[in-house]
Amino acid sequence: MTDFSSIRCLLVEDESFQQEIAVVVLKQAGINDISVATDGLKAVAMLEKAQEKGAPFELIISDLGLPNMDGVEFIRHLANNNVNSGIIIISSMDKKIIDTVELVAKTHALNILGSIEKPLKPAAIKDLLTNMSCTITPKQKSDSYSLDATDLQNAIEQMHIESFFQPKFHFSNKSVAGMEALARWRDPDLGFISPNVFIPLAENNGLISLLTERILECAISGASPLIAANLVPSVSINVSVDLLDSLSFPDYVYNMTRKYGLEPKAVVLEVTESRGISDLAKALDSLVRLRMKGFRLSLDDYGTGSSTLEQLSRIPFSELKIDQSFVTGTWEKSEQRIILESTVTMGRNLGLSIVAEGIETTEDWNYISSLGCDEGQGFLMCRPLPVSDLAPFLAGSSW
Ligand code: C2E
Ligand code: MG
Ligand code: MG
Repeated sequence: MTDFSSIRCLLVEDESFQQEIAVVVLKQAGINDISVATDGLKAVAMLEKAQEKGAPFELIISDLGLPNMDGVEFIRHLANNNVNSGIIIISSMDKKIIDTVELVAKTHALNILGSIEKPLKPAAIKDLLTNMSCTITPKQKSDSYSLDATDLQNAIEQMHIESFFQPKFHFSNKSVAGMEALARWRDPDLGFISPNVFIPLAENNGLISLLTERILECAISGASPLIAANLVPSVSINVSVDLLDSLSFPDYVYNMTRKYGLEPKAVVLEVTESRGISDLAKALDSLVRLRMKGFRLSLDDYGTGSSTLEQLSRIPFSELKIDQSFVTGTWEKSEQRIILESTVTMGRNLGLSIVAEGIETTEDWNYISSLGCDEGQGFLMCRPLPVSDLAPFLAGSSW
């Protein structure tokens, strides 16, 4: 999104000369439709009114030090009301405090675009707004309707679940290192629905096996011609840990891989432990057999609560995938830099290939590259694409 003139923006900033400056800077960034609330309570009232009118704000820019309701309380309110506008936090407070508030907002699953230290600059706002077009659409659509297990089952049966692919790149020479299959539910009325919505729905309603069968076939059949044409060396597929309870899963994946003429070494299975492994013995059995068949295993979302050192020590992973919360913007966050740098050192010492996801800016790329990570994935290089758009992109080789 480069034309910001159609964005409806709510600026929450107290009555000071700062407010006037903020309005001027937003206009310089190309945002013309600006409503101003001078404290959190007024902002809440304006949001409710806009919602009632069916014209919600696409963007909320809020200071942290608000009168009546502080910025954290305001964020909690937005989360409780499922607000899915893009949110930018602005403040002159300590950077560490701003970072933590940003984390609070992300933990609430708000659509946080980022934070900016004051004084505001148009370029900083424009940078954050470029993230907006991709992040806002799926959440709005899925939240405004309640989707249930029957909808999902119908979608799986009617082949409305498909795979998009996002390439990853070698830091050493920017060439294509592989690609990750990311499931999308294409609903004829609602448009694209995010996997963050339907994967938990499948896991909680006994549909994950059926869904995974569909996703695996989609991912492997989509990737196979690209791999055969040497456009990309491998495909990474996300696997829910629930499936590891099934001892037939390794054979199922192997047969599917061979059905489309792929070698297991061209397939990476990404695992997280977000739901906890219910039967560790069975999970280890499945994972070891997958490795023995030649598949590579990646520990996804490393650095979040779901992926731990304990898993690293007991499971034969080939790759460590560092979560985007430790990648995007980490170059300017001193504490996170220390954690990331020790993670990379540990991963290298364990002989793992290290992938960083969530590379959004050249600063991210340059910093992560300087740490000695192997591969990077993120919006800077390429967003997830349908297979038809991917082939021409890959044919152009490096980004
Ligand atoms: P994940 O496996 O960690 O996938 C990476 C997510 O980060 C993807 O979100 C991708 O679109 C997003 N992403 C990539 N680059 C950037 C970036 O630079 N910035 C930001 N902010 N995000 C970036 P997506 O496609 O919405 O998937 C979300 C999660 O859903 C995945 O996280 C994965 O855990 C799960 N998922 C996706 N497809 C499948 C699937 O086929 N099976 C299972 N079990 N889970 C899946
Ligand atoms: Mg993944
Ligand atoms: Mg991940």
